[in-house]
Amino acid sequence: MALFETKVRAGRETLTITVEADSRLRKTARWLMRNNNITLRVPPAMTPAQVNQLIEDITPRIVRQRKRARRQTDPNLMERAEALNQQYFGGELAWHSIRWVKNMEHRLGSCTTGGTTDGDIRISERIRNWPAYVVDYVVAHEICHRKYPHHGQEFWDYLARYPQVERALGFIEGVAFSEGLNADSMMD
Ligand SMILES: [Zn+2]
Repeated sequence: MALFETKVRAGRETLTITVEADSRLRKTARWLMRNNNITLRVPPAMTPAQVNQLIEDITPRIVRQRKRARRQTDPNLMERAEALNQQYFGGELAWHSIRWVKNMEHRLGSCTTGGTTDGDIRISERIRNWPAYVVDYVVAHEICHRKYPHHGQEFWDYLARYPQVERALGFIEGVAFSEGLNADSMMD
């Protein structure tokens, strides 16, 4: 049962917080976040003052995290992801930030679902100079995870709208083979 809803600003975006009473909870509250919506489940006995305090405790942390990710977003990568989104996915995908990162060891890209980093996409620096169709594949793969978080058949069917999946996978398999790695371990 939803008790109430409130909104907080995080830089240019607005986070919606929905508070729900959950009779399975005794003392501690739980929260989860998806697409700028935070669902806060609280024990039914919690007073409105306690709920407000909880919101005051939780939100600054989330807001800081969101703003940091936004600041780190790479404008060129953002543009590239948006172009793929428009061209192949009808512009229906939405993510929070996208950036190059140095510290990914084997994985070429990753996209978080849920939590304070929901929709933050990271692309490994090591693929920067790989062929454009491979970089586009990795970016398309990660933005598609916004619709399908896991690698089920639905995910692959949807990602296949990007026409060079097979070719890009072939390239990635070649790299994985030369490094003695499993190609699956390179994509998250
Ligand atoms: Zn994946």
